[in-house]
Amino acid sequence: MGSTREQIAFDVLFVGGGPANLAGALHLMELAKAKGQQLEVALIEKGDAMGAHALSGAVLNPRALQELMPDYRGAGCPIEKDVRGDALYFLTGRGHYRMPFVPKHMRNEGCHIISLSRFVRWLAHLAEGVGVNIFAGFAGTEVLYGEDGKTVVGVRTGDKGLGKDGKAKSNFEPGIDVLAKVTVFGEGARGSLVGSAAKRLNIFAGRVHQTYETGIKEVIQLPEKNDFAGSDANDLHMFGYPLGLSTHGGGFVYEMADNRVALGLLTALSYQAPMLDLYEEFMRFKGHPFVRGIIRGGRVMEQGARVVGSGGYFTVPKLAVNGAMFVGATASMFNAPSLKGIHTSMKSGMLAAETIMESISRDNFKEETLLQYQDLFESSWLKQEVYVGRNYAQAASKKGPLKLFHLGLQYITDGRGVFEKMSALKDSKTLKPVTPEAFDRSERRYGHHDYDSTLFVDKLTGVYLSKTHHLEDQPCHLVVHDPHLCVTTCYETYRSPCTRFCPGNVYEIEVDETTQEKRLKLNPSNCLHCKTCDIKDPYANITWTCPEGGDGPGYTVL
Ligand SMILES: Cc1cc2nc3c(=O)[nH]c(=O)nc-3n(C[C@H](O)[C@H](O)[C@H](O)COP(=O)(O)OP(=O)(O)OC[C@H]3O[C@@H](n4cnc5c(N)ncnc54)[C@H](O)[C@@H]3O)c2cc1C
Repeated sequence: MGSTREQIAFDVLFVGGGPANLAGALHLMELAKAKGQQLEVALIEKGDAMGAHALSGAVLNPRALQELMPDYRGAGCPIEKDVRGDALYFLTGRGHYRMPFVPKHMRNEGCHIISLSRFVRWLAHLAEGVGVNIFAGFAGTEVLYGEDGKTVVGVRTGDKGLGKDGKAKSNFEPGIDVLAKVTVFGEGARGSLVGSAAKRLNIFAGRVHQTYETGIKEVIQLPEKNDFAGSDANDLHMFGYPLGLSTHGGGFVYEMADNRVALGLLTALSYQAPMLDLYEEFMRFKGHPFVRGIIRGGRVMEQGARVVGSGGYFTVPKLAVNGAMFVGATASMFNAPSLKGIHTSMKSGMLAAETIMESISRDNFKEETLLQYQDLFESSWLKQEVYVGRNYAQAASKKGPLKLFHLGLQYITDGRGVFEKMSALKDSKTLKPVTPEAFDRSERRYGHHDYDSTLFVDKLTGVYLSKTHHLEDQPCHLVVHDPHLCVTTCYETYRSPCTRFCPGNVYEIEVDETTQEKRLKLNPSNCLHCKTCDIKDPYANITWTCPEGGDGPGYTVL
């Protein structure tokens, strides 16, 4: 390694403070206690507080939580509501039809509605209580390797106090090398460290590539008198309008405590229309008469966005290498047809913890020992859940009747469908070149909202409501490899789709009034850390990296 930076050594380091790593850390401490063993365990999280970057629906299947903590209610688990009924609606331009039945994967009896942000804070509090050292506000920015160049020995946290020009300011604090016998990566979907290390560690070889959906979500405070309370279903899903049947995705509305609702729209990034604007589609969803009826008189409390990796079993990487393991959404632990990744991520963290205990008792942290986790995964209920969606997102990326055919067949063959292993184009490769007709259509489609700054807010107010903050004077964390490409080839072919797929208004094309020259303007301080740009850019011209630790959204109820 040869580093002169400050080093801290732990037995186990968890990178990322989501449900996967928190469940893993809690389970590990419990197992160690049962064996009378003392472990030094650390967890780093890039948000300035635990839960600040946590965004989900969220309907929680309590399966993993029950295994971790049978009396989770008694332990104070922050449940907003129990699911008392599910409903699936097909939305047309102005109408809505309640489907006579809810598909098996979307039946949520026995589940709870939670705020992931609150849930994560609660788990973190419990983890601290049993001795896990939690460091919020620290982003892992580099994977550290041993002398062989292949064994992971920890991560380096980001420097703090660098100026825009990359030079140290007076408050400069160099990042720390956090070393561990085992490093567990639970960075969520599209992890930046795992992304940068994947090639060297060769963990995705032979796998189908990942596919993603971007979700934009709000929590809305409703008036005390609202139609939602007392209805037979409080777990509502919608499809049809506004995305239509060619673009996969759909909306949800979940009832929360204190007359609040969680509302969101997920759009699969396999979409083809270059003029599609994710935020505008979200506004169209909210503006549909049926949805508008549910939320009337309400006020947006918080807004945010995040991607979810929906690729399924064949996108699961090799789960361990020398000195490291991969859990949660980073490792594609997601049940795609039921849109659930919290309990699957938690279970993966718990299985990793069991393997870590074994490796500690053998004092062997090599791949062959840590890969026991992969065996545990294969033989647990977790594999069955991930397996059922093995072809789902790939089928959903097909268009029109073909998509319905594949999804229907998978429904009755428990996920198999026509082929055992279906593939799909990379999300960055699906856009079609813009045509004058597509341009005109989008002009007619968008821009007709009555923003009222209360229930219907524009993008910038949305960013404000996400409580996102970034120091302006720091190196730009969004690396645009060739800015010239953005205003030439990409503009001519796709009309700079980054200005529409980014829900935070980070990317703008400015035109000089006199010369008519175009220029890409970046607003990195608006970044919601959703990572859509890193995935959807048609030229893979944008790489998302961690800004200074502690920067980013400040979610509290999403
Ligand atoms: C809109 C939407 C709706 C969803 N609805 C549901 C639902 O209803 N039910 C359900 O079960 N699932 C749902 N999911 C999926 C679910 O939220 C995820 O699968 C789950 O949160 C994954 O957990 P995780 O711990 O792996 O990652 P995450 O929850 O993403 O947590 C990862 C954490 O790691 C931190 N981090 C990342 N990189 C670094 C780094 N380099 N250094 C330090 N920290 C880092 C992040 O800030 C984050 O806090 C939904 C997802 C979305 C986006």
